Amino acid sequence: MEIRSAREIWGVALGELQVQVSRSNYRTWLEKTEGLEYQNGCFIVSVPNTFIAEYLDRNQRSLIEKTLIHLTASPEIQVSFQVNGRYHNSSNGHKSDPGTLISALSASTQYNPKYIFDNFIVGDCNRLAYAAAQGIAMNPGKIYNPLYIYGGFGLGKTHLLHAIAHVAQSKHIQAICISAEQFTNEFVSAVRQKKIDDFHLKYRHAGMLLIDDIHFISGKKQTEESFFHTFNSLHNANRQIVITSDRPPKAITLLDKRLRSRFEWGLVADIQPPDRQTIRTILQSKALQKEIDIASEVLDFLASQVPQNIRELEGLLNRVTAFAKLFNSPPSLNLAEKAIADIGSRERTFDLSTQSLVINAVAHSFDMKPEDLKGSKRDKETSLARRIAMYLLRQETACSLAQIGALLGNRDPSSVTNACKKFSAELNSNKSLKHQLADIQKIINPPLK
Ligand code: ADP
Ligand code: MG
Repeated sequence: MEIRSAREIWGVALGELQVQVSRSNYRTWLEKTEGLEYQNGCFIVSVPNTFIAEYLDRNQRSLIEKTLIHLTASPEIQVSFQVNGRYHNSSNGHKSDPGTLISALSASTQYNPKYIFDNFIVGDCNRLAYAAAQGIAMNPGKIYNPLYIYGGFGLGKTHLLHAIAHVAQSKHIQAICISAEQFTNEFVSAVRQKKIDDFHLKYRHAGMLLIDDIHFISGKKQTEESFFHTFNSLHNANRQIVITSDRPPKAITLLDKRLRSRFEWGLVADIQPPDRQTIRTILQSKALQKEIDIASEVLDFLASQVPQNIRELEGLLNRVTAFAKLFNSPPSLNLAEKAIADIGSRERTFDLSTQSLVINAVAHSFDMKPEDLKGSKRDKETSLARRIAMYLLRQETACSLAQIGALLGNRDPSSVTNACKKFSAELNSNKSLKHQLADIQKIINPPLK
């Protein structure tokens, strides 16, 4: 039987994804998603909030695309995630008023619960942005409008944006917090579905608009235009607007100069990379939040690695705790050094660290050494462990088949594909293997607390 609708295809895809990711992973990220639209190789998945959209986009996109390609037998599929897609899927033809749309949106939008003001460590690098964000959260529309926050990757812009959204939510302000990319996607799909009036109605009636990574709309003429009008009507109505970007307004090449000048109307606040002391305090607070008992000398050591941004800093901390679990020992200085030894300090990337984490975790689970997986042994047990490692590297990293083959005993890409297929089949018929895989995945992606 041919599967047709996006909803049906996604239903089957979820079934496949469920066996490929750990249960906690599935529950947290995939369970509440729906297939929304499938057209010309573009598959739109509806997700309950921006946090999930970002996570899936960043971490599961390739796995999802592979699964969809396999199911639909299409040569290529590009997946995108849309928050509260149900709003767009108005094939039932009912007309909704903006009030219900926005309250439905706020009710089901869960901002990242960890992104609150209380968890935000303030230092010289971010003091102005923090104070301004708090100020407007307390007095929206009254102090600076818009508030424009800019800074490099992983320095806390989204954190501050969600923190404002949390406060707005507690004050029953109907805030819309959205990335510029999602705004664009919504706009494009509203145009396509001839629902542009609904779209404008929804945004122009928002009690507050928090828009993340605005540079994304740069050069997209119609989206810019639509945003310009949204901006004006909200601004005229004294509704608070907060904008974040990786660059100052002047550096955004907007087609419409009027929009750029409006970004400068209120307050422009930058966030700089953290200094050593702030890094140290952030580490301590993250360790406390994650209930990790970690010695002060280890924190000093991690801070001395001078991470480029706070996301990377969290990555270091996660890695050390993952290693501690892996080796069943407390996160000592020795272990911390080991955990980050193979991450070349300058060329540190998530992938590199995930790669070795995957191989270490699999080896540990089979009571082997990582070298066993990388070597040429071909006994049953080693081959199985290697298959799991290949499968996980495929799933968790952006490594190509050739890279995976090179990492694990110099296999060619086609043997990696075959190994992954074979492992998927084994997984379906072997419950204990499924559990073993889930345990390894927990080490690689510790569940969120
Ligand atoms: P950006 O949006 O600027 O790329 P995020 O807001 O996503 O960065 O921040 C990346 C990570 O770093 C998040 O987990 C966030 O909680 C954390 N973070 C950033 N700045 C701080 C800070 N000052 N205090 C505590 N955590 C922070
Ligand atoms: Mg961000």
